[in-house]
Parts: sequence; C-alpha cells; structure tokens
Amino acid sequence: MSVVAAVMPAPFAPIELREFPEPDIEPGGMLLETMFSEVCGTDVHLWHGRLSGVPYPIIPGHVSVGRLAKARGPITLADGRQAREGDRIVFFDVHRTCGRCYACAVSGTPTKCVHRKVYGITDAAADGLFGGWSEAIYLEPGVVAAVLPDSVTAEDYIGGGCGLITAVHAIDRAAIRLADRVMVQGTGAVGLSIIALARLSGAATVIATGAPADRLELARQMGADLTLDVSKTTPEERFALIRGLTGGRGPDIIIEASGSPRAVEEALTVVRDGGRYVIAGHYTDAGPSTVNAHQHINRKHLEIRGCWGSEAGHFIRALSILEQHARHVPWRQIGARVYPLNRLNEALADAEAMRLPKALVDPRLRA
Ligand SMILES: [Zn+2]
Ligand SMILES: [Zn+2]
Repeated sequence: MSVVAAVMPAPFAPIELREFPEPDIEPGGMLLETMFSEVCGTDVHLWHGRLSGVPYPIIPGHVSVGRLAKARGPITLADGRQAREGDRIVFFDVHRTCGRCYACAVSGTPTKCVHRKVYGITDAAADGLFGGWSEAIYLEPGVVAAVLPDSVTAEDYIGGGCGLITAVHAIDRAAIRLADRVMVQGTGAVGLSIIALARLSGAATVIATGAPADRLELARQMGADLTLDVSKTTPEERFALIRGLTGGRGPDIIIEASGSPRAVEEALTVVRDGGRYVIAGHYTDAGPSTVNAHQHINRKHLEIRGCWGSEAGHFIRALSILEQHARHVPWRQIGARVYPLNRLNEALADAEAMRLPKALVDPRLRA
C-alpha cells in the first residue's frame, strides 16, 4: 500500500504529487485517512519562503481531520476517550513540545518551546506523513488528539480550522469583559473567528475592519455589528466612525489579525485611554510600524500584548466551542471551496489572491 501526498518541494516551486510508503505504526501511533485539510495564509507564506526553519520539501496542511484507519493501542485521547477505528479524529498540529526548556518550564510560554514541531510546517516530507495534503496522516505517539464531537461536522471543524484555534488564544490574551467595545482588525480566517468569539465573550459592540466586500459580509454573519472596508475608507474616516460608535473614547480592546504595519498605527491612535491591544496577525515580518511612545503608549496608559501560536488547551476548547455554537455561527462558510490533491497550485493561487477566505483540501476527491 502506498499513500499519495501533495509536496511543496521549495518556495515558489509548483506543488507535486508523490507516493510514500504506508508508515509502520509505533506503539501509541495512529494512521488517519484524511477527510479534510486546509490551505490557509500560513501555506501561502510557506510557498513564499517567508517562514524560517522550514525543512523543504514538506507535505503542507497543518490542521486536518481524518478517520482512524489503524492504531497501535490502546490509546487514550485528550478528551478521555479510547480511540477506535472509524472515529473522526482531530489533533493539535504542534507536537514534541518538551516541557523542559526555559519557555516550557520557567516562563510558562510553551508556544515558544525551542523543541516544538508543527505538522505541515516544520516536519520534513522525508520524515513521514506529517501533513494533511495527503491521503493519510501519521500521528506519532504523544500527539494531542480527540474525537470530533458527534454534532460537529467535518466542514464546521475545518472551516474554523487553525484560525479558530488561534482566535481562542487571542481572545484569552484580550481578556474581554462583559459589555466591552471590541474592534477586530482583519477579516481573514483568524479575524472572522475572533469576531465570533468576541461576540460570545459578551462584547457590547464588535467593529471589524478589513476587505474585500464578501469577507465583510461574512464578518457580519460571524457577529460584527459594523464593518469598515479599509480599501474604501481613509484612516481619518474610520477614526471618526469608530469614535462615534464608542462614546467618543475609542474601543476598549482592539485585536489585530491583519498582518499590516499600518493597522498597528491605526489601532494605537483609535484605542481608548487605558485600553488593551492584542497583536496576533504579524506572523511573518511585515516591516516596522511607527509608534510615538508618549502619545500612543505612555500617556494612553495602554497595554499591548503579543500572541504567538496556540496551546493544546486552545485546540480542545475550540472543539467545545464548535459543539455549542457551530449551529448558529457559520464557520463552515469560511472554507469556501474544496480542491483535490492535484489542484493545489490553483488553491494556493486563489488563497494568495484572496479570492476566498480559506481553501479546503479533500484528498478523497478525484479531479
Ligand atoms: Zn520546551
Ligand atoms: Zn493555518
């Protein structure tokens, strides 16, 4: 038996299909038959060579869902259940977090662990089936996995995908209080999930800035009260509108998910005195933002927090959130189009041109 996977050989090189042998399963390991994986902004960054430490060639696809085909068990999952063949399994893409390094053991910031590996990003294709753009995914022993709750469809899960898991972390960092006025910068997959979670956190007002028009429409369906198109308004116009909606003071909390240095400058100007700003969208280096420390931080008594990666707890809590809310929050609509393995060059081009919030991969499809 061999497994077909889509491989990214190097930055800017076309994606190609390769055959891999079915892996030997170690005690505690699992082999999933992939149902869905995704093509997200990170995959576009990978294709542009903008992430450091990537061991090309790789099998991309970091967040995925699959059916358990084989396991060398018994295996107790993170949700306390025993893994059974045929289960719909989801897993946390970050693995080998060591628990012993300074970041893990001392500073309490495991997303900065120096030993962590990420499926589809920092695992080489030569090391095995560690990516979702593949007919099968190998979960090595120690990967945090769970059964997808019965009421959550695979489309709901993968529509939320990595963006939802990142959003759970960003919302924790934002520490929203009931009736806070929240602004979200960016209406990509992360921003859309942050909008929904800010609403669920009890925000009185959720304002979203982004583009293009169809994303802003989806942002309203996710729970935004007001959306502002950054391609059709000036920062001055947005300042007046946002201040008008927030009692003249500005949002209590702003969460950045846009990756734009200009968005940072705008947030520092419009956020209220004593407010909080969480930066989650500068996953790659988009260049410097201009800050006036007196006006924007010191005199404002502003709190600024970064948000890097996510932890297994954010993944497990995302499952509970989907179980409770996927019926009325349209996460599945973020995964706008499904591609087979042999059309992923097209999927990357569509993601790059922002023609859709997120492309899905279904290796069972034949084009
Ligand atoms: Zn560590
Ligand atoms: Zn992603």
